[in-house]
Formats: sequence, C-alpha cells, structure tokens
Amino acid sequence: MAVDRWAGAPPSAPERAASIQVLPPEVVERIAAGEVVERPVSVVRELVDNALDAGASEIKIEIRGGGLRSIRVTDDGTGIAPEQIELALRHHATSKIRGVNDLFQLASLGFRGEALPSIAAVSELSLATATAGAPLGVQVDVRYGVAGNRSYLARPAGTVATVRNLFGNTPARLKFVGSARAESAQISHLVRRYALSRPDVRFRLLLDGHLSLQTSGRGRDQAVGEVFGATVAGALLPLGPRPAGGAELGGLVTASHLTRSSRYHITLLVNGRCVHSRTLLSAFEDGYRPLLPRGRHPMALIALDVPRPAVDVNVHPSKAEVKISGEREIADGLRLAVREVLGRAIGQPPAERVFALGGRQLELPRGIAESGPEWDVATPDRLRAMRVIGQVHGSLIVVEDASGVFLIDQHRAHERAIYELLTRRHAEGRAGQLLLEPLHIELDRHQMARLGPRLPELAALGFVCEWFGGHSYLVRSVPAIPETADLAAVVEELLEMGSDDESDWQHRLLTSVACRAATKRGRALTIAQARELLDLLAGTESPAVCPHGSPIILHLTDRFLERQFHW
Ligand code: ADP
Ligand code: MG
Repeated sequence: MAVDRWAGAPPSAPERAASIQVLPPEVVERIAAGEVVERPVSVVRELVDNALDAGASEIKIEIRGGGLRSIRVTDDGTGIAPEQIELALRHHATSKIRGVNDLFQLASLGFRGEALPSIAAVSELSLATATAGAPLGVQVDVRYGVAGNRSYLARPAGTVATVRNLFGNTPARLKFVGSARAESAQISHLVRRYALSRPDVRFRLLLDGHLSLQTSGRGRDQAVGEVFGATVAGALLPLGPRPAGGAELGGLVTASHLTRSSRYHITLLVNGRCVHSRTLLSAFEDGYRPLLPRGRHPMALIALDVPRPAVDVNVHPSKAEVKISGEREIADGLRLAVREVLGRAIGQPPAERVFALGGRQLELPRGIAESGPEWDVATPDRLRAMRVIGQVHGSLIVVEDASGVFLIDQHRAHERAIYELLTRRHAEGRAGQLLLEPLHIELDRHQMARLGPRLPELAALGFVCEWFGGHSYLVRSVPAIPETADLAAVVEELLEMGSDDESDWQHRLLTSVACRAATKRGRALTIAQARELLDLLAGTESPAVCPHGSPIILHLTDRFLERQFHW
C-alpha cells in the first residue's frame, strides 16, 4: 500500500477543469434514478465528492444548525470555468463521464451530473468558483431552483458552495430530518470517513463555528491518529494486506476491548470510495464474535481494492452503496482476516497503568500510545520456541522468549485447544465418541419441544440422542474430548445450551463443553505438562483468545520491564 493513499484510491486528480457536457439520453437512461438529497449529510457527501473530484488538496466544511441553516464547502480544486457554470447546474450535465462505457471504469466519485441541480432545487445555493490563472471568477445564486444573480469577482482558484435553508420549500422532507444535533453527528462521522479515505487531503470541519476535525494531509498514519485519536490509533492492529475473493484487502482494526456503541466508527472503502455494505460489515463483525460484548462495535478502516469492472457504483442514487461481484467471497475473506488478526493479538498491560514497586508508585512514562502501534502476534513457531519456566498459583504458566515474559492462563489455553479440536472434528463429520453404555435421560416438556427439532444438528456436534418413548432419550455418543471429560457435566450442558434459541448456540455449546473439559485453575502442572499444553496452544488458530473471548496470554515485554524497573 502506498504511504499516503489506501489501496484502490482513485487515480491522481485533474490539473485543470474538464469541460462539462450534458449526457446523451442513452446514458441518462442507465443512471440509477432517485432522490439524491435526502438530508443534510447527503448534501455534504455530494459537495465533498465534487471537491475531491476537482483535485482539491484542502477542503473546509462549515455546518450550521445541523446543515439545515447552512452548509459551506470550500475547496482549492480546479474550479469551474465561468462560461460553464450554468451547465454545472443543469440535470445530467457532467465533466466526468461521456458515454455508457465510462460507467464501468469510473475513476471519479461523481458521474451523474445530478447533485448540483438537485441541491439547487431544494435550497438557496450559491456557487463561487474560479479556475487557475483566470482573471476573474464567477458567482451564481439559485433560490429553490430559480436562477438569480450572476456576478464576476476576483478570487483564488477553487470553489465555494454554500447551501442555505435546505428544504425550506419542502416541509414534507424537513419532517424526516432529525434534530440539528443528530444531523451534525452524521455529518461529522461522514467527514471523518472521508478524512480516512483520503489521508493526502487536508480536511477541516467546523460545526457551528467549533472545530470538530482537522487533518494534516500528511499521509495514512497521521490521518488515522487525527481521526481516531492517538490512543486508539496506537492500539490499532493491521488487517492484511491479503487477497480476498479477487480483491485485495487491507486496513486497521481495533482489538476487541476497544469498542463503541455504534457502527459509525467503521469505515469501509471500496476502491477509495466510502460505502456501506451490509454483507461486508456483518461479515466483518462476525469475525469478532464472540469477542465483542453485546451492543458494542469495533473501530476500523477496511480498504478493499477491487478490479474496477467488478464494482458497480451505479446502483444507489446517493452512491452510498455499490454492487461488487464476488462480494460473498470477499466477505468470507474479511471474516477470516479479522479472526486471524484478533486470534493472535497478545494482550499487553496498558501503558498508563501504575504499578507499585518497592513501596513507591512509579508512573509509567506516557506516550507509548503516541510512539505508534506495537503489534504482538502469537505465531505457532513463536509459541513453540518459548521456554517454560514454571507455574504460578496453580493457574498461570510462566514462559519466556527473547522479547520478554509471558503469563499464560492454563485453563483458557486448554479450553481453546479443546474447542478447536471439537470444531475440527465437527467439520470433518466425526465429532462423536460412542458411549459403551448409552446414557438414559429424562426431559421435561419444555426441553423436549426445543431439543427435538435439533437432534440432527446435535448429532453433527457429537451428541447422538435417540427418542426412547415418552420423555426419555438415550444419549449414544458425546463429543470426543480428552480423558478429563465429565460425562454428566457434558450432558447437563447439552440440556441447557442445546435448547437455547440463539443463533450461535452451537458455538456456545462447544465452548461450554470445552470449558468443562479443560484443566481447571488450581491444578498443579509439571514442567512437562505445561510444555505439552503450550504445544497444544501453538497448534491452534487463535492462541491469544479463549472461545469466550477472554485473553489467554499476557506479555510483559522487556521494554515494559525496563520502564517499570528504570533499568
Ligand atoms: P457530477 O459530480 O456527477 O458530475 P454535479 O452536479 O455534482 O455532477 O456537478 C456537475 C459538474 O460541475 C461536475 O461534473 C464538475 O465538472 C462541476 N463541479 C461541481 N463541483 C465542482 C467543484 N467543487 N470544483 C470543480 N468543478 C465542480
Ligand atoms: Mg458531483
């Protein structure tokens, strides 16, 4: 990935204003029709798209009253030539495409020539613009679709679009718009996404005169810090780059302990375009399960580079959604990529925590977060190469390698290994272990009603149960788990979890079985047993988190220790 652009960002911007033309009817017919301007945030989206398409390196967005009072977007792009300004305000007039074929090779964000006329129809729009080197620029005012003043003025190259009293002529539309605060919040999320999508552009957002966001245009790392804040930025984990269903996938994600209550902090870029995709977003969050607490969402920037012909931007009037051929495969790749990153991310003690040493409180130097991201990844080789030192409190295995000391939760490590074993066996269709003597269980009506329909799925998980008349069932096999398995406990789990209505009940059932079967905290392990457990853990796909989503490994890095002891 380039230093200052994400994969798939649109190619470099135009130097001069391209000429605007009215699209021929056969192109107009092909363009997704519908409402372009639904709320203030849609106006901001269209104006910022225009500024970026015009090659702006600096974009200022000023919002008043949630965008209903006024929206002003100022850019330093190519500007519009005075003789073309009326054309820019006509329906289906654009400088960005000429023919139908251009729709499949879009390099610009806009292409339909619909934004300015649609905005002008529902607001008081004023456009002031000048091209580089032109002696004079021009300003036009349009009031609810009726052209008014046109004046010439000296001004720097670029464009200022001012939209006042949006929907002043359409009270019905106004009803669907939320409070000024809610609209401002949406706009602020949108501009943050744009700032992430174009780290090479300086963005400034002012909400009712207050600076809400400022980016430096100095590249990816800076933009991420400016948008997410230094602490979050320092804790982001790199996603990819890796191929996924014909696309190239990259980005940054937070580990599961850094969450927000909404999905607004997830930015999805498809070829540099900020879009929404239910399929991709749900696959992405699925990758976090079961690590995410209910109702919480990660923060992330996901950049997809998809071959241009595979992306259809022309599906939604607000360009907020795109159609990607192969989206399912990309979604699967995304889910896997997230699992992989999170499953191997080892926890470290938070930098700002205070530890007591020798009776004196030593504050850790701050600024670890500012010093940039640090990633600690549990690869199989690394785990196998670690030296086991011993066990503490009968519950933690102490291990070391050249990078520091690791504390490993023995119960969770074993649980992870058993869980993956059960999942693998399930996938291979050999989950069960035949019992020499079938176990006879009695169910109440409630349990029967819920368990009955799930018998085939339960069999695939290793629980082969047969109806034995009345309320009786015979359990013929249970999941094949290591010797420690406590049969009664496992069956009890079955009765509790197997009758659960939640969609992830299979995962939860296997998790509980693994939890019951895993070695307990408080059990003494010899060095050889600890070694064996570590090797088991090394063979898993997600050695750093247990199936419930809690951390397994804590890393006390040498750097951390040096700071603590002032070495
Ligand atoms: P589209 O972006 O789909 O072409 P718009 O209605 O948004 O349609 O804009 C119409 C035309 O006006 C654009 O094609 C572009 O040539 C010109 N234009 C609009 N905004 C700007 C801007 N900020 N800077 C330069 N040109 C602009
Ligand atoms: Mg546009």
